[in-house]
This record gives sequence, C-alpha cells and structure tokens, in this order.
Amino acid sequence: MFDVVIRGGTIVDGTGAEAFAGDVAIDGDTIVEVGSVSGRGRREIDADGAVVTPGFLDLHTHYDGQVTWDDALEPSATNGITTIVLGNCGVGFAPVRASDHESLIDMMEGVEDIPGSALSVGMPWGEWESFADYLDVIGARHYSANVACHIAHGPVRYFVMGERAYEDHDASADDVAEMARVVREAFDAGAAGFSTNRFRLHMSRSGKVVPGTFAPAAELTAIARAIGEAGHGLIQGIADGTITPGDLDAMPELDLLGELSLVSGRPLTFSTFQASPQADVFRRVLDGAAEWNARGAQLRPQIIPRAVTFMSNLDTYHPFMNRPTYKALADLPVGERAARMRRPEVRAAILSDGDDFTGGLGALVGVGLGTALGRLFSLAFPVDYEPDPSQSVEALARQCAVEPLHFLYDRMTAGDGGEFFALLGNNFQDGTLEPCREMLLDPYSVSGLSDAGAHVTMISDCSSSTFHLTHWVRDRARGERVPLELAVHKLTGAPAGMYGFTDRGVLAAGKKADVNVLDFDNLTIAAPSIRADLPTGARRILQPSTGYLATIANGEVVRRNDEDTGARPGYLLRSSRGQK
Ligand SMILES: [Zn+2]
Repeated sequence: MFDVVIRGGTIVDGTGAEAFAGDVAIDGDTIVEVGSVSGRGRREIDADGAVVTPGFLDLHTHYDGQVTWDDALEPSATNGITTIVLGNCGVGFAPVRASDHESLIDMMEGVEDIPGSALSVGMPWGEWESFADYLDVIGARHYSANVACHIAHGPVRYFVMGERAYEDHDASADDVAEMARVVREAFDAGAAGFSTNRFRLHMSRSGKVVPGTFAPAAELTAIARAIGEAGHGLIQGIADGTITPGDLDAMPELDLLGELSLVSGRPLTFSTFQASPQADVFRRVLDGAAEWNARGAQLRPQIIPRAVTFMSNLDTYHPFMNRPTYKALADLPVGERAARMRRPEVRAAILSDGDDFTGGLGALVGVGLGTALGRLFSLAFPVDYEPDPSQSVEALARQCAVEPLHFLYDRMTAGDGGEFFALLGNNFQDGTLEPCREMLLDPYSVSGLSDAGAHVTMISDCSSSTFHLTHWVRDRARGERVPLELAVHKLTGAPAGMYGFTDRGVLAAGKKADVNVLDFDNLTIAAPSIRADLPTGARRILQPSTGYLATIANGEVVRRNDEDTGARPGYLLRSSRGQK
C-alpha cells in the first residue's frame, strides 16, 4: 500500500524525455515508483486524460518580505509552482543591522515596487541580523511550496560599507575582503546563490541606484572566488549590457558574467529578453553565452516565454491618474469611481485636463502608458498574450474612428472598472512572440523571470509557468509551438539541475514528490484581478490558473481542483556542497 498513487496519466518526467503512459507512487515525501504501479494507494488520484509533471520552479521571485508573513505563496502556488527562489536582482533583507531596516526597505521598494509600509509593518524586523539568522527565520516556517534563497549584493555591500555602498563604486581592499567573507558565510549557512544587479534602472525609492550596480570586476571576482570555495549554489544577475548594450560590437557585461562563472566554477543565470531598441541583441547574447560555455563557463540565460507584461487598470497605473479631475475621485472605491467617470461632464473634464505631474515612478508609468497605446492590449478573459497588432487599443480605436485615449477611457471605466490592459514590450518588439520560441529552444536557457512578489500593482508574470503549456504547447496559432517535453523540462529538470537540487525537478523513484497533475485540455489562465490583502491593506495583482487537478509538494497535496487544501509541507531548501 502506497500513501498516494497517481493513476493512469501521461507522464512527462522533466528530463526532456518522451512522454509515456503510467502511474506515479508516493510514500511519505518521496516518489517510490514511476511506470506501471500494481499496488494501491491509500489515496488514489485519477489522472486519466491528465498530464503528470514534476512541480514547477519559480526562479525569479521577490518574496523576501512575503515569506516572513505569508505561507500560501500566491500567486506562485496557483500556477503549479512547488519551489520558489528569493533574493534576486541584488536586493534582499539580509544581512542587516538594526539601524538599517528602513534603508533596505527603501532599496527594495524602489527596485521592486513593493509597498514599503507593508514591508515595515508586515516583517518581523529584529529577528535577524546575519543572512544565516534570516534563513533560520524562514527555516522555522512552513509553506505551500519549498523556498530557496540567494544572498543579495545590495544588502551585503550596505552591511559592509554603509552609505558609501551607494556612492563609492570602488570599494577598498578591506571592504571587498569583508564582502567575500559575508557571502561565504551565507553559502555555508545554505544560500542557494548570490545575486547582483547591473541594471541602472533599478533604483531605491529615494532614487539611488542599487549598491553594487557599478561594482568593478575585482569586487565581483573576489566574491565569485569565495562562492567557488563554498562549492555549491550559483550566481544570478541582471545586466544592462546584456539587454541593451550601448555598443553593438562589444558585450563587456556578458564577458564579465562569463568570467565570474569560470572563476567560481558555478552556473550563472542572468535575465535575457528581447528589448528595445536593438531587437536582436538577445540572439547575440544566446550565441555569446554558448561561446563562453564552450570555454568551460556555465552561463544559463534566464528567459520568460511571453512579453514582460506591464499591466494597467483603473485601480493600478493608468494614463488618467495624473489629471486633476481624476485625482479628486481617486480615493473612491473602484466601481463607484468608474461610475462617476462615466458621467459625461466628468469624462469631458478628465479627457481635457492636462497632467498634474507630481513625480514618482507610478506617475511616470501612467504618462508612459498614455503614449504607448499601439502596444497596449486588453487582458480581458480569455487572455491573449500574443495578440495580433490589429487588436491594440490604438488600432481598435482607429477602426471605429475614435481617439485612442478616449477609446481606452471608455473601456477602462466600463462596468465595475476591472478590465486590465497590458503594455506588451520586451519580447514583443516585433508584434510576435517568435523570439521567445528561439529562447525556449536554446539548449542553455532556463525559464524564470516571473518577478512574483514584486511590482505588485504593475507586473504579475507568475502565470507564465502555466503559459508554457497553454500557449506554447497547446494553443499557439501565430507560429510554431514547442514540444510538451521541452516546455516541462525548462520549468523543472533544467532549473532544478542548475541549482543542484538533484532530488527535485524530475519524476523518478527516489526523488522528492513534487508533482503536478494537469487537466491539460482545460488548463486556463484567469484574467488578472486585484486583492487588497498585503499587510496594511496594500493591493496586489493576482492571476491564478485553473486546470490543476492536483499540486503535490513533498508528498502532500497542497492544491486540489484549483483549491488550496491548507497543507503547508514546503520548507527552506538549504543548498550545500554535498548536493552536487
Ligand atoms: Zn527581479
């Protein structure tokens, strides 16, 4: 008798190998048989007509605060994810001195658009100083999914250098040695990696570029050497120079990343997407990474198989938010606000108002959205992330001879004011997701970049895990699709192997029982919606998917028929040398 048997599914094991019909038997937290299972299970899950895969990994999240107050880990948990990684992009919350809590909140709030008040009030500040202490705080909790954590360059630099971390690009030899020591200590405590930011637009709330962004190669090399001595984990980064390099003939940032992987002897994964204005840079990045890998590096472009989606609706950022007549209504509940905005005199006033621009990132985004209506598409259900350009707000407005901004106004204020629009930018520069297919097919790429937990009222790309299957395997009409086995591999075996989580990411006897059972034909991504459930009542965008018959983490069913079962078997995954 087994604890659980998943009976009669199409098994996609996460290695990229061909799918086959079979059963999966689980005892405790471990898969014990895959294939034809003759014994019965105390619990049987009927997978007839369903696809059975390993649980997905969500590599690029910013749940660093959320894991200290929340155990459900939405929106990841509602999209088949059984392992999340935090501490990305060089920002995080450890190490930290008691006097510096607000400084790290400032850093995170600016870069990742997480309400600072939620972080101040929601997190148990004072329970840790070192990174090891922070891991202990996470380690004492249980979640719907497993959690792994990077130590981030920004906090490390701030811990060692104080305010100089922002201004002094060249750290002293003592500073560098101390940073390397702190990072080494974190890896010894179980850090899954070290993250660094080299993306200039990542600024703190107070407008300062994140510490470490301009760190010279010597500082990073010293840290990479310490990581090599630790002998496990990886390096994660985001770099301007691999996204929009200033000089098309040279890619010094890519070369720096290659060097860091070589020096540390560890994998290095970095954000890769097609970004304006040089739309084919991603191809040169993929080729360059392959060249470095031929020389012994382990560069792993981290991709997302749809546009990085900037969302807009009446309750988040939108083109009317800076107009005085609108501002007078801004505090009304959204349904009431929409109704007031439909009144002809209010409509006329807002549409003729000028922007009363008071600054701040959100206001800027609002203005930007109003000038990009040719790239703005409805995200009403059923959501379409590869729309034909003829469906843009601008194109639709022109078709009915209406001013595009007026057209958007009427759509946004219709009904309860809940319709979302998406600015499809990166990866959709040419009006097609064909670049994503190229990136998915790249042998070194891994899927990630959901940014879950961050940009909580602007970006929610967590459902991109589900999108691998709905769009790329099943629905795509505007070009070729990708094989099911490949899509699943990019979400499971590939990233788990990269992290050295060799007991996860694959369905095989002896592996941890992280499993999804999918009603593949009916898998559906919901339209985004707003929920005000962050600490202090701050809002965030959620976007669950349906069609997950079961999601199992460490042998326990955490979601059944798209409902949270309340089980919280997920725990901190400490990376260690023995792992790989
Ligand atoms: Zn990030």
